[in-house]
Amino acid sequence: MITTAFDYHRATSVDDALAKLAASGGKLLAGGHSLVPLMKLRMSEPTALIDIARIPGLSGIRENQGSIEIGAATTHHQVATSALLAKVCPMVCEMAADIGDPQVRNKGTIGGSLAHADPAADYPAVMLALDADIHLQSPRGPRVVKASEFFQGLFTVDLAQDEMIVSVRFIPVKAAAYAKLHQRASHFAIVGVAAALDVSKGVIQSARVGLTGASSHATRLTEVEQALTGRALSAETIEAAARGAGQSVTDVNADLHASEDYRRAMIPVFTKRALTRAMERAG
Ligand SMILES: Cc1cc2nc3c(=O)[nH]c(=O)nc-3n(C[C@H](O)[C@H](O)[C@H](O)COP(=O)(O)OP(=O)(O)OC[C@H]3O[C@@H](n4cnc5c(N)ncnc54)[C@H](O)[C@@H]3O)c2cc1C
Repeated sequence: MITTAFDYHRATSVDDALAKLAASGGKLLAGGHSLVPLMKLRMSEPTALIDIARIPGLSGIRENQGSIEIGAATTHHQVATSALLAKVCPMVCEMAADIGDPQVRNKGTIGGSLAHADPAADYPAVMLALDADIHLQSPRGPRVVKASEFFQGLFTVDLAQDEMIVSVRFIPVKAAAYAKLHQRASHFAIVGVAAALDVSKGVIQSARVGLTGASSHATRLTEVEQALTGRALSAETIEAAARGAGQSVTDVNADLHASEDYRRAMIPVFTKRALTRAMERAG
């Protein structure tokens, strides 16, 4: 199907994008890899698109006083190939490198992925594990939302119609990893688990574990985090913590890719894989 008719505007700055968004009541267009398919299916019928892909300064990966900032229009390819991220937080590169295919990675953006909040998207789990701050801008000014509060339901996030994601910021964690069971064709996650560990003198001081693909929206596996905290970092600790992973998730998906039982069975498997890789990176 072809889309309904729409006006196209190219924004030259964040302020310009917000003004055009407010004036048109339309939708922001970043990589178009989630929005355009929805428009072709007539599940989304915006009367105007505001293209933010080429706003100067809205893409790029920067380090600032020990914190990483990724601009909203940064593509998956830029994230996957970032030398800075490979050095300080390789989990983010490995996740982005396994999104979709080269075309998707060359056009799709971190801001679009987070705003769209597909239940099978990879970024949400990783941003939960990094305890990232999502920076928003609107005509009312800036706002910061924690990743743990941002994902609220199926394709539902804490983002108003006139708001825009401008960047994502987090403290990089080296001892972190992402493991996913992906759909063969699209590479979307059937189950994806991101784990980040804070380890001192062989003891896990704190752990954050994000889950995607399994339910309506990405969520933290707090029971696993609690089972790890204060324990010696070892294969036995990981095995024990991962065993019950996902038991608190009440709305596990069932679709043509995997049944509820299969997804439930895979959550501990991929939790263990992510934690084991994170342990290796802890050194
Ligand atoms: C074949 C295929 C395979 C894919 N495989 C994967 C995969 O393996 N893993 C995965 O995670 N994803 C996958 N995706 C999704 C892909 O990552 C998309 O790029 C991403 O979900 C959306 O990013 P986008 O930049 O294309 O956003 P768009 O499609 O342009 O926008 C999506 C939504 O976000 C809004 N939006 C965009 N930018 C902003 C912003 N800065 N602030 C506020 N709202 C904004 C738009 O208005 C729209 O509602 C796949 C997509 C396709 C087509």
